[in-house]
Amino acid sequence: MRKIFTCLLAAIGLTSACGQQNFEDAEVKGFSELIEDPNVVLLDVRTIDEFNEGHIEGAINIDQAQDDFIEKAKAALPAEKKIAVYCRSGRRSADAAGRLAAEGFQCVNLKGGIIAWKEAGLPVTTASYETDTFKTQSGKAIRFHALMHACIRIEYDGKEIEIDPVAKLRDRTVDYASMPKADYIFVTHEHADHYDEATLKLLSSENTQLITNKRCAEMFSATKADGALPKVKVMTNGDKAEIAEGFTVEAVPAYNTTEGHLQFHPKGRDNGYVLTIDGLRIYIAGDTEDIPEMENIQNIDIAFLPCNQPYTMTTDQLVKAAKVVKPKVMFPYHYGQTDVSSVPSQLKNEGIDVRIRHYE
Ligand code: ZN
Ligand code: ZN
Repeated sequence: MRKIFTCLLAAIGLTSACGQQNFEDAEVKGFSELIEDPNVVLLDVRTIDEFNEGHIEGAINIDQAQDDFIEKAKAALPAEKKIAVYCRSGRRSADAAGRLAAEGFQCVNLKGGIIAWKEAGLPVTTASYETDTFKTQSGKAIRFHALMHACIRIEYDGKEIEIDPVAKLRDRTVDYASMPKADYIFVTHEHADHYDEATLKLLSSENTQLITNKRCAEMFSATKADGALPKVKVMTNGDKAEIAEGFTVEAVPAYNTTEGHLQFHPKGRDNGYVLTIDGLRIYIAGDTEDIPEMENIQNIDIAFLPCNQPYTMTTDQLVKAAKVVKPKVMFPYHYGQTDVSSVPSQLKNEGIDVRIRHYE
């Protein structure tokens, strides 16, 4: 009797375990069709190193082994969209899908993981880093690659745009040698997490334009053992320029306002940039606090706002700045070790789509 009872319990246990699989599984073919749907978010739950070695294009990366996985997922994933989850072999993603489903997400797990995906002959992108794609006014694709910290790579209509390219920061590196030469490079200011002369030269061809402030232009040494140097254009706060057809830039103020922090970024020295590319308006704030001039920065589609103390903003300041600028999409960037996971919920009622990417 006791044995039967135990078996019965085991059977019930099994049934309820099955009943508890509150996510779907998909084979490669179904999964590849599913992720074409714009209402599906593709999530890679491997480590950032595995992700950077190659991933399915369009995936965002949140490592399921991290203690704050659920917290990060809740911040990054829209509750109303379906989440397509994968890992290397399908085991970690099944675990992650189960945990996400328990939080109310609708999840589909890729059986066999990226191994099965590759075996089916489907592509992975070796251009690493998380990528967000948007459309400009005339329907052209523009891609933002989250390289690290303040380093943003933008691809648009065959052109390469680099923002504050820096090859190494603490234990993180960006492999700029593997990337195409830049058509336009924007540098906000002289600090080592924004200005890296060797990388500026590495990315330059004879067609490259470097747009920066006066201090960086003075620091930039116009010598190079081999290869071309960029053409340097100096902009100060308030300057506007058309740098190509349908591509304008405005240099905007970026500075500290908190007593004791003013020396980091004194008013008038450094630049933020508002880029207008085929009608799409992009605000790259640089190292700044929530300054009054942000009132004049309007009709922004995509904003990059910094968040780390003591150099830029607190999360409260970041939220305030976002409420003033009112971008459609906001990427917290330059956030280092700051926990930005509460920011999306704080801006939920403002209609701002907050996207947290690897801009630590
Ligand atoms: Zn700085
Ligand atoms: Zn900085």
